[in-house]
Amino acid sequence: MNQIITLSAQVPVVGQYDTVVCGGGPAGFIAAIAAARQGAKTALIEQYGFLGGMATTGFVAPLSVFTYNNEKVIGGIPWEFIERLQAMGGGLIEKPLGNVAFDPEMYKLCCQQMVLEAGVELYMHSYLCGCTKSADGHIENVIITNKNGFEAIGGKVFIDCTGDADLAHFAGAEMLPDEGKPLQPLSSYFILGGVDTTSPRIDQAMHHNRQGVNCHCESIRDELVARREELGIPEFGGPWFCTTLQPGVVTVNMTRTAANACDNRDYTAAECRLREQAYQMAAVLRDNFEEFKNCYVLAVAPTAGIRETRRVKGLHVITAQEYVSAFRYDDSVSRGAHPIDIHVASGPAQNVTFLKSPAYVPYRSLLAESLDNLLVAGRCISADKTSFASLRVQASCMGTGQAAGVAAAQCAASGRDVRKADVAALMDTLREIGTVI
Ligand SMILES: Cc1cc2nc3c(=O)[nH]c(=O)nc-3n(C[C@H](O)[C@H](O)[C@H](O)COP(=O)(O)OP(=O)(O)OC[C@H]3O[C@@H](n4cnc5c(N)ncnc54)[C@H](O)[C@@H]3O)c2cc1C
Repeated sequence: MNQIITLSAQVPVVGQYDTVVCGGGPAGFIAAIAAARQGAKTALIEQYGFLGGMATTGFVAPLSVFTYNNEKVIGGIPWEFIERLQAMGGGLIEKPLGNVAFDPEMYKLCCQQMVLEAGVELYMHSYLCGCTKSADGHIENVIITNKNGFEAIGGKVFIDCTGDADLAHFAGAEMLPDEGKPLQPLSSYFILGGVDTTSPRIDQAMHHNRQGVNCHCESIRDELVARREELGIPEFGGPWFCTTLQPGVVTVNMTRTAANACDNRDYTAAECRLREQAYQMAAVLRDNFEEFKNCYVLAVAPTAGIRETRRVKGLHVITAQEYVSAFRYDDSVSRGAHPIDIHVASGPAQNVTFLKSPAYVPYRSLLAESLDNLLVAGRCISADKTSFASLRVQASCMGTGQAAGVAAAQCAASGRDVRKADVAALMDTLREIGTVI
């Protein structure tokens, strides 16, 4: 039986901001830049010593998808970041699909520079572990823990970009139901060196540039499926390979395991299983495919890749029907163009539905029903499991981050409840900064 221990602590308030962004992944670092550029005094809290979220902690590649048939879908600050990354030599925009291959180290540097140039105050190595609320339910502070101990950061408007809706959860927001379906599986990417990236098969597989097709390496998959028992291969996905822009090096996405990443023990066990799998899969590739005969593991992603956990129940829940019909809401603030991509929790299956045209995201899906000063962006927005399976990709997360950042800055300046934001002004500003809505 669990014993409950009550702690009381004196927690200093170490900063007071217009906007506090929790989580420095694709949604979070873009939200912070967007808010700061609108004039908001902005803090960004991140548990690791670098930004980028799944791109840099999980090596998740490519960054999907900024365009649809070469037409830009996610513009503004996200696209500025991509162009800057490419100009630094750390990104490769794959046309016509708008996937972006990247060097994870340059990604970290590029987004850090943009965040600092915008004047954002960074709290790295700081884990969000709670919040305080006023009697009327307003979030007043977030509580972080780091080498200084516990610290509180006060704000007018908060943005939850933790992927797992941690802040919304701590603040008591309602989450969406599971629709009777399991969570999508976790996967740890790993990076291989010594690969023959000049071979036609790997060269084609590591460039995700074909519209309307799943970019996994089909011939390797077919052989692995046929010989799975003989080779003793655990369940796997893909395999997907992606260039890191260095010769002989590819990221590999093929491990998978079912787990709930918001349950610490479940997540810990999954992390250990996936690290074992990464080495197992590397050996399978090395022993069975000519292009990999000299390969070696350069790195296993620092954290297991999380596809799905909590999603907030917002003022509006994006439905599959709205999403696939590209319904244009009166308060559309971002877009999504990636296929609906559902990985089955147990087993190698993946259900992919390609969109006929890019979809829209309403502002109301970034708001928790019960909280007047919280926005959410990225993977934890209010979308049903089907539309989420497209919106979870990184370009879409950057898009919702951008909208949330601008909205937070405007609401902090006007003192408005985020649920009563001036949506016309928000949409005008988003268009001015390059959003395609
Ligand atoms: C196996 C796999 C394959 C995928 N394939 C693709 C793909 O091909 N293309 C694509 O674009 N997307 C892909 N995705 C999806 C994509 O990577 C994520 O959905 C996306 O990164 C979510 O962005 P986010 O900003 O919402 O969250 P995240 O990227 O998870 O960022 C959240 C950030 O918040 C920080 N954080 C979390 N909790 C706390 C806390 N309590 N305190 C402090 N900091 C915290 C994290 O450290 C992290 O930096 C894939 C995902 C997986 C797992």
